[in-house]
Amino acid sequence: MAVDLTKYVASIPDFPEKGIIFRDLSPLMADGTAYKQATDQIVQFARDKNVEMIVGPEARGFIVGCPVAYELGVGFSPARKKGKLPRETVKASYQLEYGTAELYLHRDAVKPGQRVLVADDLLATGGTISATIDLVKQLGGVVVGCAFIIELDALKGRDRIKDYDVLSLMHY
Ligand code: 5GP
Repeated sequence: MAVDLTKYVASIPDFPEKGIIFRDLSPLMADGTAYKQATDQIVQFARDKNVEMIVGPEARGFIVGCPVAYELGVGFSPARKKGKLPRETVKASYQLEYGTAELYLHRDAVKPGQRVLVADDLLATGGTISATIDLVKQLGGVVVGCAFIIELDALKGRDRIKDYDVLSLMHY
């Protein structure tokens, strides 16, 4: 029987700063049944799209993307912050509340034409996932879907990725 995934989200007021409610997914990831259920739902979404590669941004995108890649028998490539990847990379910048940040992907992480699912734990403003999509596109990959465990509807991240098929398992 399916579990109610919302029961595995801890909502933390005023973290990391006053006025923000942080949605903490670590209870979901710590529970085998809930983690598997969330993974299976994303696997199904990816199977329907004949996904050949998963790309997820540091760090919780790894926790979401890797079990999906394992189950599908496809590869996973990490999009990482500055200074973490040892070989030649491509780079994408995105806006933070104060200033900008960059994400990087190894230049050989995605092959031209490869069908890629981008995955992260949570969609907020969409900056992180847009940068991840940008990296995949720079390498000639075809983004066939975006998957999240949680979407924060009020921040309208979906508007920034409206050209893509988006799966969010929960909405807040
Ligand atoms: P965005 O770039 O869409 O504004 O923010 C999404 C990124 O920030 C994701 O990589 C996500 O891990 C992180 N993030 C932002 N807010 C939260 C939150 O409330 N909970 C969690 N778990 N991650 C968040």
